Amino acid sequence: MSFGLENLPYGVIAPAGGAPRCAVRYGDHAIDLDALARAGRLPHLPAGVFAGPVLNPFLTLGRGAWRETRARLAEILAAGHAELIPLHEAEARLPVAVGDYVDFYASLEHATNLGRMFRPGAEPLLPNWRRLPVGYHGRAGTVVVSGTPIARPWGQRPSFGPSAALDVELELGVVTGGPGNALGEPIPVAAAAEHIFGFVLVNDWSARDLQRFEYEPLGPFLGKSFATSISAWITPLEALEPHRVAAPPQDPEPLPYLRADGDWALDIDLEIELNGTVVSRTNARGLYWTFPQQLAHATVNGATARAGDLYASGTISGAERGSEGSLIELTRAGEEPLELPGGRRTYLEDGDTVVLRGAARDVSLGEVSGTVRAAGSTPGGQR
Ligand code: CA
Repeated sequence: MSFGLENLPYGVIAPAGGAPRCAVRYGDHAIDLDALARAGRLPHLPAGVFAGPVLNPFLTLGRGAWRETRARLAEILAAGHAELIPLHEAEARLPVAVGDYVDFYASLEHATNLGRMFRPGAEPLLPNWRRLPVGYHGRAGTVVVSGTPIARPWGQRPSFGPSAALDVELELGVVTGGPGNALGEPIPVAAAAEHIFGFVLVNDWSARDLQRFEYEPLGPFLGKSFATSISAWITPLEALEPHRVAAPPQDPEPLPYLRADGDWALDIDLEIELNGTVVSRTNARGLYWTFPQQLAHATVNGATARAGDLYASGTISGAERGSEGSLIELTRAGEEPLELPGGRRTYLEDGDTVVLRGAARDVSLGEVSGTVRAAGSTPGGQR
């Protein structure tokens, strides 16, 4: 079972006519965590920790509380002692109030592919890429849960209009937890795992025409900030521990604050489905920079990481054809369109549905789906 006892991801659901509630997923059902806590079944937790509409209070508790909760939930479910809510009777909500959102650029293959397309004729990797995990601060307020429709964004392409190059980015994200670090006190690589609550799939929707015109010199802005979709379910780190593998070798050796500590690549098979056809298959284990390295880098200047922050990997692409994590790469910037049963595609058209899936053998990550809506009415009457 993809969502069996070895998984037990956390989320927030709203049953028909009911208020949102924190939940854990078991198969095709959810269990109301606040109801379990109120019934005295989770006595190790502070009262009311699951009473709100987001998981943030639980995320602040740290690994000891998460482990204990996971063990108790497994006992309760194995014994059949919980009321199961069918998922089709409930609506998934955003599981956390996202504090900060950082997006990295950690795939060597993706950075190389994009470098070739955005800076033709130049060295595809900029000199900093192998020395630090390149990233930028994204827009936390427009992180949305799987299933949320995505309106085609307006912008300067450079002529003004709805984006004509709406793309997807297949990414893996960490949701942080625990007490966090104090301002001015970086998180070492070796301690990063204590700050990782769990993992989600991320679709970093990208308007390539807006992005291409605006990104120099300060990086991605409106071409990315209109929406970022994440899984409704956060798979805890504990569920993915058996799927940690060695990351690719790094050359040159990173500075000491970035030096790897243990095997932190994740053997997670990933795929992109577009209108019912799988158009890309890849694996997260090839990411050049690991999540502990990303977290150590994001805080090395003393910036804080707090419970409920989202750190996404950046697009995950493999080396082979058909393993790229975005349409701009899959279609070679439109030169080789995808031939799908419903018609040819370079970028997304209105009504298109994209589903991202990921699984480490028997542990599935919650899927991320989204359907593109036509652009809204003309902003400011402009043409
Ligand atoms: Ca991205």
